[in-house]
Amino acid sequence: MADPCLSPDAPSAIAPRRVLHWFRRDLRLADNPALEAIGQRGDSLLAVYIHAPEEEAPWQPGAASRWWLHHSLAALRDRLARQGICLLFFHGETGPILSRLCAQLGIDTLSWNRRYEPRLWQRDQLLAEALSAQGLALEAWDDGVLCPPGQLLNQQGRPYRVYGPFMRRLRLLTDSAPLPLGPPLPPRLRPLPLDQALAPGCSLEQLGLLDAQPWHEKLHDHWQPGEGAAWARLEGFLQAPIDHYAEDRDRPDRAGTSRLSPHLHFGEISPQRVLGNVQPLLAGEGGGRPGQSAERLYNQLGWREFARHLLWHFPDSDLQSLDGRFDALWQEDAEWLRRWQDGRTGIALVDAGMAELWQSGWMHNRVRMVAGSLLTKNLGIPWQAGARWFWDTLVDADLANNSLGWQWIAGCGADAAPYFRVFNPQLQAKKFDPQGRYQARWLGSDPLPEPIIDLASSRTQALARYQGMRQSNPA
Ligand SMILES: Cc1cc2nc3c(=O)[nH]c(=O)nc-3n(C[C@H](O)[C@H](O)[C@H](O)COP(=O)(O)OP(=O)(O)OC[C@H]3O[C@@H](n4cnc5c(N)ncnc54)[C@H](O)[C@@H]3O)c2cc1C
Repeated sequence: MADPCLSPDAPSAIAPRRVLHWFRRDLRLADNPALEAIGQRGDSLLAVYIHAPEEEAPWQPGAASRWWLHHSLAALRDRLARQGICLLFFHGETGPILSRLCAQLGIDTLSWNRRYEPRLWQRDQLLAEALSAQGLALEAWDDGVLCPPGQLLNQQGRPYRVYGPFMRRLRLLTDSAPLPLGPPLPPRLRPLPLDQALAPGCSLEQLGLLDAQPWHEKLHDHWQPGEGAAWARLEGFLQAPIDHYAEDRDRPDRAGTSRLSPHLHFGEISPQRVLGNVQPLLAGEGGGRPGQSAERLYNQLGWREFARHLLWHFPDSDLQSLDGRFDALWQEDAEWLRRWQDGRTGIALVDAGMAELWQSGWMHNRVRMVAGSLLTKNLGIPWQAGARWFWDTLVDADLANNSLGWQWIAGCGADAAPYFRVFNPQLQAKKFDPQGRYQARWLGSDPLPEPIIDLASSRTQALARYQGMRQSNPA
C-alpha cells in the first residue's frame, strides 16, 4: 500500500512551526516519535483527539475499549496539562474538523503517528491528499510496531505466511537496533498560545465513550489505563514475574504474564520500550536471571508484529478466512452462541474464562484458546462470531491480534493450529489450573449448568467435518 504522507524532514534542520498533533493510538508523551520531533524543533503544539467511530466501521470500538479509551485520554490530558498544553476533544468527521482547526488557528503542519489497519490506512491516505491540497505540511511517523508492516518479505518477495521465518527476520532487525532502556521520559513541549475560554471542541465526557449504565465500574478493580500505569505495569513485571514467564505464562491460575496488551494497543507504551528493557536479559546481562523467559516474551511481541504483518498483506483477514476451505463447516446457532457468551456452556474452564472476560475485560491467553476451540470446533460456530464478541468485551481488543488469534484457533489462518487440534477443556484445566483456583475464582459457588455438548463426540464430528472439507477442497 502506498504511504499517504510525505516522509518527515530531519527535525533539527527545520525552523519551529505551529503544529497540530492528531492523537490516535499513541496515547503517551514519551517515545512518541511525532512528539519527539515537535519537542526537538521547539514547535508550538496544538493537541487534538477526534472521536469518529463511524470511520472505523465495521470495527467501531466496543464498550470495554471505550471505557479504556476514556480513562486513557483523561490520563493523557492530565500529563499534557502539566506542560501547559490543553488536549482538545472533538466528536465528528475527522477531515472537516482538522481542516477547519488548521485554518482557524493558523496551523502550518499536521502531525500523526500511523495506524496500519488497512481501512484506516486508506482513510488516512484520502485525508492526507485533501489536507495537503490545503497547503498544510504533513508529517506521519511509524509507531506502535517494531517493524512497520509491509517491510519484511520472504526471499521470493512475498509476505511471510509462517511465523518462524518471519520472527527470525524480525530478530535480525531488532537485535541490531538501539532500543530505549529504563523509564520513558516525556519530551519538553511548548503549547500553541490559545485563549482557553475560546478553545474549540467539547469535553472528554461529551465524547460519550462511557455507557450510561455504569457496568464498567468493575473494570477499575483490574486496570488503570494511562502512560504512567503502563510503565508501572512493565516495571513490576520486570522485577520478578518475568523470571518465571516461561513456566507461568500458560497458567491462568497465576499472575504470570505482563498484562501489557491494552497498554500496547492504545499506545501508552511502545513495543520498543518493552523490548529495550527485556534485551539485557536476552543478552545474558541479567546478573544470573534466566534468559529463557525473556526469549518467550520476545516471541509474544513477535506474534504481535506478525499479526500486523498479516492484516496488512491480507486486508480482508479480519472478516474472511485466510484458508477458505473450511468455511462451509461453520453454522450460526444463536442459542449456543448466547450460552457461550454468557458463560453457560457447563464446561468449567470455558465458563470461568467467559466470566473473567465479562468481569475484568480480559481473558488469559490459554483460556482464549480453549474457549475459541470450543466455539469453532465442538460447537461449529463461525470464528467471526467469537471475534466479534471478544471485540466488544475485551479491553485489549485489537484488530490484528484478534483476527490472528481467531483464525489460528479455528484452523483457517496463515499459520494456524492444525484443524485436528481440538482443545479438550477438561485436560487443559487439569494441566494448567491443577488446583482449580482459576475456575473457582471466576465461577464462584453457583452450580454449573448441564454441558451444552458432549466433548468427545463433538470432537469426533468436528474432525470428520474438517477432514471432509479438506478432501473436497484440496489446498
Ligand atoms: C482467540 C484469541 C483472540 C485474541 N485477541 C486478542 C486481542 O484482541 N488483543 C490482543 O492484544 N491480543 C489478543 N490475543 C492474544 C493474547 O491472548 C493476548 O495478547 C494476551 O493474552 C495478552 O496478555 P499479556 O499482555 O499478559 O501477554 P504477554 O504474554 O505478557 O505478552 C506480551 C505482549 O505480547 C503480545 N502477545 C502475546 N500473545 C500474543 C498472541 N498470541 N498474538 C499476538 N500478540 C500477542 C501482546 O501485545 C502482549 O501484551 C488473542 C488470542 C486468542 C487466542
